[in-house]
Amino acid sequence: LAGVSDLLDEDWRQDLSQPVLNAWLSRGTEAQRALRERLFELLTDERYRDDCEVNLIGQSEVRLHVPCLIGDYTDFYVGIHHATNVGKQFRPDQPLLPNYKYVPIGYHGRASSVRPSGEPVVRPSGQRKPPEAEAPEYGPSRRLDYELELGIWVGRGNELGQPISIGSAREHIAGYCLLNDWSARDLQAWEYQPLGPFLAKNFLTSISPWIISPDALAPFRSPMPPRPEGDPQPLPYLDDAADREQGALGIQLEVTLSTEKMRRAGLAPHVLSRGQADAAMYWSAAQIVTHHASNGCNLQPGDLIGTGTLSTASDDGLGSLLEISRGGKRPVELESGETRSFLEDGDEITLRAWCEREGAVRIGLGECVGRVIPGV
Ligand code: MN
Repeated sequence: LAGVSDLLDEDWRQDLSQPVLNAWLSRGTEAQRALRERLFELLTDERYRDDCEVNLIGQSEVRLHVPCLIGDYTDFYVGIHHATNVGKQFRPDQPLLPNYKYVPIGYHGRASSVRPSGEPVVRPSGQRKPPEAEAPEYGPSRRLDYELELGIWVGRGNELGQPISIGSAREHIAGYCLLNDWSARDLQAWEYQPLGPFLAKNFLTSISPWIISPDALAPFRSPMPPRPEGDPQPLPYLDDAADREQGALGIQLEVTLSTEKMRRAGLAPHVLSRGQADAAMYWSAAQIVTHHASNGCNLQPGDLIGTGTLSTASDDGLGSLLEISRGGKRPVELESGETRSFLEDGDEITLRAWCEREGAVRIGLGECVGRVIPGV
């Protein structure tokens, strides 16, 4: 935007020329929509062609950064198939806890370690205690994993003490990105009770450095999947007719893995999963935002919210190695002859997402890449 900024309203320039977009996002959805329309105009109208062309910079010539100064990062757990699969490994007879179908479950993550795609994944060390061991020890994680998630960027915030109604939640969502919630499963298993994830997850969170606007996704919205027979309806503060009709996001998701050996042999990355966000999310983005602020907690422009791991009901759409390898019991076989239960040094994970529908322009959500390197 730097180059074409003199073609934009004077009023917008200052916010858009900042190193981060927080001030711009605080203006809300109307301003965002106006900018999107103005950019369309600049890029398609003959009158602006020359001015635009000299000022545009190719994507491959720039390095993209995290678009906001993230004040807070929260991760939810709305992928019901993921929650069920993981729950089964710990509690075969009661995979989902009784609160799951009432409360969009989440925890506060750490904002300082959210980095753009491409940041190396330094293998974390921590306390781990295999079930058979008598005491824990400190050392590099042996069960390093990824989690396929969407990130939700908060636009306009809310004042402390002022909840966001479900009907107005959309006005607080600036857009979406891809998010990889890297997870050290051995550290997690030992530390997570009673207060939930901590060092097993806050060593790094990678994102695709884009804000895909809700307007761009509008053609790909659909009704929320019907709740299975016998499930409770959302409590009134989380229930909204428009959201029921349009809350699901028709986003295609794909995860690939390439190992050092595969890259040396010139082998294509192995597809670990292919799935869809709408089939995975028990709660919508609006329900997530509304629930987060339902106690009066103030969300701020540029806050980042993870959906939780998005797995489909079928085995080819699982969003983590923990699920794919059944906790390490069924390693993945790769074209190089190697197997993987969890990530080894040199492994590279790429998350991709896109929307496609007849009669609509294809929308990409970019890539979220991370390669594991040995810890220090
Ligand atoms: Mn997660």
